[in-house]
Amino acid sequence: MSLQHSTKLTSFSRDLLMLGFLRQVGDYTRDTVDAARNIAQGLAVTFDHFQRRPVTVQYPYEKLIPSPRYRGRIHYEIDKCIACEVCVKVCPINLPIVDYEPGPSKKIAKVLRNYSIDFGVCIFCANCVEYCPTQCLSMTEEYELTSFDRHNLNYDSVALGRLPTTVSTDPSIRPLRELAELPKGELDPHNVPVNQPAYGPQPKQVLNPTMLS
Ligand code: SF4
Ligand code: SF4
Repeated sequence: MSLQHSTKLTSFSRDLLMLGFLRQVGDYTRDTVDAARNIAQGLAVTFDHFQRRPVTVQYPYEKLIPSPRYRGRIHYEIDKCIACEVCVKVCPINLPIVDYEPGPSKKIAKVLRNYSIDFGVCIFCANCVEYCPTQCLSMTEEYELTSFDRHNLNYDSVALGRLPTTVSTDPSIRPLRELAELPKGELDPHNVPVNQPAYGPQPKQVLNPTMLS
């Protein structure tokens, strides 16, 4: 191979290397511009969200009103209880403690002494409420039962008989309606007037269709 031919080849391979390098620079620049455009689009969406009103419920100053069939703390009326223990049999964990002693006669076979439910164990399935023959059990909308001592969650008949606290009657709280209780087209409960009816028939209207007209 002549010296002139060899020099030409070297120059050619240098050109090829330079071309490859320039192509890499071009690819890198294009990728950088693409990435910058994607980041800008993402930021535009993020800033758009900044302009919307937050839909956060500011607990504990605002609270959602639980739905009518919400299964909160159980309420118990001792004067209606006949100590039949149906609630114990239908409970998945046989949880209610029905404390009774034999009655003085055949007619009064049992005399109830106490009744308790441990809410540290209860799964709030409401089976006991559904099957109680005298309807002395009911579900309330109370869900704030936290305690520093788990034994405080074992409610006796007095604690179970206490009237529940409700979100809508507490003057220190701003009650907000749940999504299913909002009027048609509304997604944020903050601006909905309390007296504006919810979308669709309400549970009372379903039970009594004459109220729909
Ligand atoms: S089912 Fe009702 S009436 Fe019977 S023991 Fe339980 S709470 Fe009392
Ligand atoms: S709500 Fe369910 S788990 Fe709780 S006591 Fe009643 S039946 Fe038992």
